Amino acid sequence: MIKPVGAACNLDCEYCYYLPTHDLYERPSHRMSEETLENMFKTILPHFEDHVSICWQGGEPTLAGIEFFKKALAFQEKYKRPEQSIENSLQTNGTMLNDEWCEFLKENKFLVGLSCDGPPHLHDLYRYTVKQEPSSSMVMRGHKLLQKHGVEYNILCVLNNVNVKHPELVYNYILNLGSRFVQFIPAIEWEEPAENFTSGYPGENPPLKDISPDPEDYGRFLCKVFDLWNRHHRTHVSIQTIDVMLNQYLFSRSSLCIHSDSCHNQVTVEHDGSVYGCDHYVNSRWQLGHVSDKTWKPLTPPTPSTVPLTVSASPADARPEWEHSPFEKDWYQSLDTENFGDFATRKMNIPEDECGQCEFQRFCYGGCPKHRQHRGDKTEKTILCKGYKMFFAHAMPTLDEIARFYRHYGQLPPTEVEIERQQQLRADPGMMDRKVKPNEPCPCGSGLKFKKCCRNK
Ligand code: SF4
Ligand code: SF4
Repeated sequence: MIKPVGAACNLDCEYCYYLPTHDLYERPSHRMSEETLENMFKTILPHFEDHVSICWQGGEPTLAGIEFFKKALAFQEKYKRPEQSIENSLQTNGTMLNDEWCEFLKENKFLVGLSCDGPPHLHDLYRYTVKQEPSSSMVMRGHKLLQKHGVEYNILCVLNNVNVKHPELVYNYILNLGSRFVQFIPAIEWEEPAENFTSGYPGENPPLKDISPDPEDYGRFLCKVFDLWNRHHRTHVSIQTIDVMLNQYLFSRSSLCIHSDSCHNQVTVEHDGSVYGCDHYVNSRWQLGHVSDKTWKPLTPPTPSTVPLTVSASPADARPEWEHSPFEKDWYQSLDTENFGDFATRKMNIPEDECGQCEFQRFCYGGCPKHRQHRGDKTEKTILCKGYKMFFAHAMPTLDEIARFYRHYGQLPPTEVEIERQQQLRADPGMMDRKVKPNEPCPCGSGLKFKKCCRNK
């Protein structure tokens, strides 16, 4: 993950966890210099495996300008190995997009992640401009441009204390935006004074901010989304939380750090070239090094798990996922690996009396350390535990069946709606063509517009 403009953003969203990192830097400009940009690809790129996934994030990364990204692509070409393929993605609030941007993104095969928290009255609750004006119309203008230019995009929806109570409305709205890849991210933010943000692990958590979703509401949201996905969309829509669980069923591996055994599978490079293990921990305690630093310490292997976090009884599969990182091992040698080892493996430090005995441990892995509570030296469970348990218990029986089907046929089973539609079509072949306008609800009952649903199949 690369932060070309650090925390700089043209919006002032209520729950932006990244704005406090402004305090870390003295320079007024948070723009990555051309020298740092080149240095970054020169020093890091050779040490990635053959497939490299780069995510440009912010703040708002488009503030760096198109010319900056053109140079970035040129440096990628210059320093990649011939067999290396690089996939670029850009996480944006969409408000700065124009025809020129979209042409560039399309031409260079960027995958765009567009932030949208639901219909305007929900999106505008916490996502506003620095002048405190609503942003949804600007986002939707960007969305239309992405569609016009055929740019591939997915939707990232931050769940807060309000939209989390409207799962069906939010889900259908987002699917009607035409994306088939959706992430729901709970806005877990603690009431913490900015001066404490840089101190790393707080000894004791402050209370959750009011804007954060209630953990049980979060669980109910995921359960409802799961039911909608399962009934209507499981063959053609990817919901990250569900995908992660299905991956664990099928391959005994998590595709998301939050539900992996350690925080090891990415690094974050700030605009000044400083390297961190994760963008949730961009602070002086967890800085791992700098892209141009030649004096990074030699590799120390991470300390082994203190809790048996195996996802399988087989010893081969029981090793930490640390070993499956997308980087070559020798690259770690240039990091402050004692710090990196501490950072990555502290995720394993979860309460054995609760998580260690939990029936959902193989799906959960204790969640994200940022969501955990701390009482003095004691780490407690993630604040989302109740929500996770509701969702895992709800989804498990169905996902178990889906995984069995997949193992047997190599694809996901048709949805209930698809089966019903086929039965109806057999009985009445003209049904789907009759008098349904593109923007009307699809007769299959999905809740989507006809043009976004069965008309496209
Ligand atoms: S701190 Fe959380 S978001 Fe960051 S790598 Fe670890 S699990 Fe992932
Ligand atoms: S569901 Fe709760 S108790 Fe179980 S592993 Fe996750 S955080 Fe721990």
